[in-house]
Amino acid sequence: ASEKYRNFPMVPRVVFGNGSFDQLGDILMPKRKHSEAPIVYLVDDVFEGTELAQRIPSIFCDQLIFVSADEEPSTSQVNALVSMIKANFQELPSGIVGIGGGTLLDLSKAVSILLTNTGSAADYQGWDLVRKKAVYHVGIPTVSGTGAEVSRTTVLLGPDKKLGINSDFTTFDQVILDPELTKGVSKEQWFYTGMDCFIHCIESLEGTFLNAFSQSYGEKALDLCKEVFLGNLPEKESRDKLMMASWHGGMSIAYSQVGVAHALSYGLGFLLGVKHGIGNCLVFQHLEEFYPDGVALFNKMMHKNQITLPKSVCSHLSDAELDKMVAVAMGMEPLWENALGEHWKKVITPEKLTSIYKKI
Ligand code: NAD
Ligand code: ZN
Repeated sequence: ASEKYRNFPMVPRVVFGNGSFDQLGDILMPKRKHSEAPIVYLVDDVFEGTELAQRIPSIFCDQLIFVSADEEPSTSQVNALVSMIKANFQELPSGIVGIGGGTLLDLSKAVSILLTNTGSAADYQGWDLVRKKAVYHVGIPTVSGTGAEVSRTTVLLGPDKKLGINSDFTTFDQVILDPELTKGVSKEQWFYTGMDCFIHCIESLEGTFLNAFSQSYGEKALDLCKEVFLGNLPEKESRDKLMMASWHGGMSIAYSQVGVAHALSYGLGFLLGVKHGIGNCLVFQHLEEFYPDGVALFNKMMHKNQITLPKSVCSHLSDAELDKMVAVAMGMEPLWENALGEHWKKVITPEKLTSIYKKI
């Protein structure tokens, strides 16, 4: 019997280049339905009052909404934004533009979906539950690594799970890759989000789902990560290269899956609100059993970039809390299956995961 291969969407349009952000106005113009149907910009609030905010091509009744990225996006936050936009305008927006890191990109994807699909964002967490095309949406990353700019998912914290809205309608219609926008990112954040990309590569390349499609993107992204985090590149080149690493890393997992670090990091995120990038790092340092070469490289990168991770993050947790985290992590079946094959339950037990969490 022949296998069913996945037919997955890619971002149909992308601009790359320093200063390309200034093309946004021209890109949006033909997408404007009329003057009553605005473009809504969801912008990371670190940009409030900055030069970048001034450069946003807001005209007619367009609306700029500054959103904090201090917490990862949630289904209730998406619902609130959608209600607000619907209350503010009689017409559906002509477009949603997300400007920021993975948090703002994911929020924008989800808001554009929920503007055309009824109900709560939580109803669509899962695989292929979205029925209607989203509002036209544009992603503009300002910190590199998550691959959220290319992926077909938007990861949301829901009432009872942290899970993506995975659908063909999630993917952005347009992405603008302007490496200059990542200039203000702190050294730590640059590393944590960059390591998300590095870990995507390791998990994809070491996974059982690997195929030539994923491998070709994963190897390229991994090489770029090594150049950025172990080489001595000028800053501009680092910014250019990490932005492309993120893109390729995202493409690599699109056709495979992430693995052990992401499964455990979801547990940390769900229970403690630990953010994705740092959460992956906290977990990954203890995964030498699963990814010996990857962890050795990771340690080198930590050292070279003078990063120290927080300690005793889980030491105060009760048994019940640890059990909850373990349950969230164990629930990520496709991730485990990618990491360890279909008999993963022989290796991964609650005791084993508890012992890893206790080290963090
Ligand atoms: P983020 O968006 O959470 O931002 C991290 C911090 O960097 C924030 O404080 C933000 O204000 C700041 N920041 C962003 N750009 C800046 C700039 N240019 N200058 C100064 N500060 C800046 O970080 P992230 O790591 O990109 O995203 C994490 C999120 O991405 C998580 O919610 C995670 O679930 C999600 N994610 C999604 C996918 C996907 O495929 N959809 C993949 C991986 C991760
Ligand atoms: Zn990730």
